[in-house]
Amino acid sequence: MKPPVLTDGDLALRPAGTAPGPWLREALADEGDPPAHLPLTGGTDADVAIVGGGYTGLWTAYRLLESDPELRVVLVEMDVCGSGPSGRNGGFVNAWWDELGLLRELFGGDRALACAREVASSVAEIGAWCERYAIDAHYRRGGMLTVSTTPLHDGAWRGSTRAARELEVPDSYREMDAGEVAQRCRSPVFRSGALMADAATIHPARLARGLRAVCAARGALIHERTRVRSLRREGSAVRLLTESENGAGEVRAGQVVLATNAWSAGWRPFRRSLVTWSSWMVRTDPIPDLIEERLGWTGGESIIDARFTVHYFHVTADGRIAFGAGGGRPGYGGRIGRSFVDDLAAGRRAAVGFRRIFPQLADVPLTDMWGGPIDVSADHLPRFGTLPGGRVHFGFGYSGNGVAPSHLGGRILAALALGSDEPITRLPIVGAVPHRFPPEPLRYPGARVLREALVRREDGEEEGRRAGWALRQLTRLPRRLGFHLGPES
Ligand SMILES: Cc1cc2nc3c(=O)[nH]c(=O)nc-3n(C[C@H](O)[C@H](O)[C@H](O)COP(=O)(O)OP(=O)(O)OC[C@H]3O[C@@H](n4cnc5c(N)ncnc54)[C@H](O)[C@@H]3O)c2cc1C
Repeated sequence: MKPPVLTDGDLALRPAGTAPGPWLREALADEGDPPAHLPLTGGTDADVAIVGGGYTGLWTAYRLLESDPELRVVLVEMDVCGSGPSGRNGGFVNAWWDELGLLRELFGGDRALACAREVASSVAEIGAWCERYAIDAHYRRGGMLTVSTTPLHDGAWRGSTRAARELEVPDSYREMDAGEVAQRCRSPVFRSGALMADAATIHPARLARGLRAVCAARGALIHERTRVRSLRREGSAVRLLTESENGAGEVRAGQVVLATNAWSAGWRPFRRSLVTWSSWMVRTDPIPDLIEERLGWTGGESIIDARFTVHYFHVTADGRIAFGAGGGRPGYGGRIGRSFVDDLAAGRRAAVGFRRIFPQLADVPLTDMWGGPIDVSADHLPRFGTLPGGRVHFGFGYSGNGVAPSHLGGRILAALALGSDEPITRLPIVGAVPHRFPPEPLRYPGARVLREALVRREDGEEEGRRAGWALRQLTRLPRRLGFHLGPES
C-alpha cells in the first residue's frame, strides 16, 4: 500500500505548544474558565502532601479523604490540575487483559490475574465514580479492539489471548477474525484483531477537572502554579520546598506522595527507572454522520494497532475522531523540554497514521495537534512504592497507558501513605524503585537510535516490507538486554 498523502490543511496544522490542549480548553470553558487555586506562599502543615495534580495525585487525595475526611491533605501542582498528560491523553480507559501474557511471564499466573482484575475494577469504578459525583466525563464503555494493519502484525495479541484462555478468563481478551473487526469499524488496512471488553473512553480533561473539584470539595488544599523544588527529611516530617511567582513556600508533611509521572525521571532516586518519551495526537471536527456512514463505527470501541509505536484512536462524545501516535521522541536525562509539546515532525506522524487508516475520510480536516510526555519503564508497567525512610511514596511508569492504572495507583498510594496493609499493596507492581536503564549520556542516544529503527521497521512493515536482518536485530536489542520493550521477533 502506498504511503498516505497529507492534505494542505494537515500540512498547515501546528502543535498546541505550551498552550492548553483542546481537551483542557473545552473543560475549562465548561467551568467558566475559573482562576487557578492560589499558589503556596509561606509555610503549611499536612498529614499527607501530594506532588502532582494529574489522575495519580488526585485519585490519591480522593482515596485519602474517603478513608479519613479529617486528614489534612495538601496537593501541589506546578501548573493547573489536568494540564499534564491527564488532561491531554487519548481517552482510553483500559484494563490490562492485553498485557496478560507479559504479566504472567513476569509474575506468574495468579499474581498476573490479581493485577489484571484490579485494573479491570478500576475501569468500572471510574465510570461509577463519575456517575456518583455527576461528573460528565463522557465515560463510555465500548471495549477496546487491537487490530493488525499488515500481515506482518497478524496475531501480535496471541501471547495475551493464549494466557487468557489458559488462566480461564477467555472472554477478557478474545480473538476476532477480519469480518468481525470490519463489523465494528471499517478500514481498508484492518485485518484480524482481538477485543477486550473491560475498556471505556472518556474526555480526559473533564475527568481530571472533575477530580480536582471533588477533591477540593472534600477538603483537599490544592495549590496550583507552585513547583516543588526539593524534599528534605527533618525528624518525623518531610519538608517540601516550593516556588511560585509569589515566592518560596514550604509544606511540612508526615507523608509525601510523588505523583509526578514523566517528571519523576528528573528526581534523583528515579533517574535510572524511566525514559521520557513524547506521544502525539490529532483530532477531526465533529463528523458523527460520516463515521457511521463510511466507517460503520458506532459501538464506542477504542482501537489500537499492533505497532510498538502504536496508533490509538476513538470517537469522542461529540463525534470527532481523536487519533494518537506513540512514536514520538525520547528526552535527555529525564528533562521534559519544549519538544514534548512543540514537535511538528512527531505530530505529523499522528496525521499520517490517520490518513493511512482512514482514507475514506480524506476530505475531513484535522483541526488540532498536541503532544505530551509519557514515562516509559523497563517493562512498560507502572511501579508504586516507598523510598527508604518510609515517608515518601512514589508511583510512575505507566508508559502511556495510565488512565485506568492511575486509579489503582491512587488506591495503592493512599494505602501506603496510611500504612495500611491491603491486598493491593501486596500486588507485584508494589515494591522497590525499579533500576534498569543505562545512565546518561548513554541512554538518550540509545533511545534515539532505537526509536528511528523502530519507526523505520514498522513503517516498512505497514507497506508490506519485512525488515532486513540488521534492522530486526537492532529493534530486538531491548528484549535481548532484558527489557520488555519493542518487537519480540
Ligand atoms: C498524548 C498522550 C496520550 C495518552 N493517551 C493515553 C490513553 O489513551 N490511555 C491511557 O491510559 N493513557 C494515556 N496516556 C498516558 C496517561 O495520560 C498518563 O499515564 C496519566 O495521565 C498519568 O497520570 P499522572 O497523574 O500520573 O500524571 P500527569 O497527568 O502527568 O500528572 C503529573 C503532574 O505533576 C505535575 N508536576 C510534575 N513535577 C512537579 C513538581 N516538581 N511540582 C509540582 N507539580 C509537578 C505536572 O505538572 C503534572 O500535572 C497518554 C499520554 C499522552 C501524553
